[in-house]
Amino acid sequence: MTNFNPQELAALYLSDDINDVWQASQNYAVIDHPSLGKISPNQYRVKYHQKPCPFCGQKMVHGKSAHSTNNQQEAIARGYQYLDKNGNKIINRAGNTYFHPHYVTLDHKLNKARCPERMFDPANLQIMCWKCNNLKGDNNAYELQHSLNYLQDLAEETLHRYPLL
Ligand SMILES: [Zn+2]
Repeated sequence: MTNFNPQELAALYLSDDINDVWQASQNYAVIDHPSLGKISPNQYRVKYHQKPCPFCGQKMVHGKSAHSTNNQQEAIARGYQYLDKNGNKIINRAGNTYFHPHYVTLDHKLNKARCPERMFDPANLQIMCWKCNNLKGDNNAYELQHSLNYLQDLAEETLHRYPLL
């Protein structure tokens, strides 16, 4: 588990398999970070406890015992609930456990399901709070959608300016 061959990772194509590799790697020094050195995903997250999220500026937290609960009412009482981009009340959740909204997460810029060979590439990893991670969603799709809208606008604009005779 300490050495990954990017070509083996690239051969993974089922998102369950990709997730399994990521989950199994959490306590192994699989990331060769330029300034932090060889570091596990969990050690990487811990370093950002009490640091501001680079996207929303809120102070992030790490530590499951202090910043999560299995009781939904308790999670609401602690203020873990927030609104998603559709205005629905949500709480960060993994299995039966509810987490602090600004819990530290390690995000893949290029979605690991689309680009598994870059799963542990430090240039493809960024720290953000769980809430921002939720609101971001699948950034690849977001960018593709924006490109598509742009091309459609351009096509319509072109047709408008130069009507077909
Ligand atoms: Zn944030």
